[in-house]
Amino acid sequence: MSETAVQLVPGRSCQDCTLCCKLLRIDELAKPRHAWCPHCAIGKGCKIYDERPETCRAFYCGWLINDWLGEHWRPSKSRMIITAEGARLVIHVDPGRLDAWRKEPYYSEIRKWAAAAARNRGQVILWQGKDPIAILPGREKHLGPLRDGQFIVTTETQGPQGPVLDARIVDADDPLAVGLAKQE
Ligand code: SF4
Ligand code: SF4
Repeated sequence: MSETAVQLVPGRSCQDCTLCCKLLRIDELAKPRHAWCPHCAIGKGCKIYDERPETCRAFYCGWLINDWLGEHWRPSKSRMIITAEGARLVIHVDPGRLDAWRKEPYYSEIRKWAAAAARNRGQVILWQGKDPIAILPGREKHLGPLRDGQFIVTTETQGPQGPVLDARIVDADDPLAVGLAKQE
């Protein structure tokens, strides 16, 4: 999907993977999440490569550019795409393999990322189907529908055993949403 404008991990390229052309939302094409782009030659590439939208030109999935993601995270193998949006790590799961993230070693890694995110005021959000799930230390929370303009925020309250993390969806005018990046 992408050109070589950023530093790719040596040896990694899209090859026959076209998963982002299914899983991601492309506003310029009014393409919803989890639907194949009509311009995709599945498993081959983009049929309008020279004229593809800016969103496609600018996109590099996490596996292409982060060597801390092991080879097993190749999207065509894992059936998941990782993206980073600021302090938010997003895992997009192929709706044709909804349980992919619960298999090992993926599940253990995702739980570790959730624990690290909690320490660093980050988030791990997983799109398993049409609604997002917040992965929190030791648990997951189904957040329900996320409308355009809404945000996922993480909150921390003090419980009897120490800090308790939670996540929820808020509207753009909610004080908790100030300064947050758009949720994709
Ligand atoms: S998901 Fe990643 S590896 Fe697969 S086509 Fe998209 S950018 Fe390339
Ligand atoms: S325009 Fe091309 S690169 Fe963009 S989503 Fe469609 S098939 Fe993929």
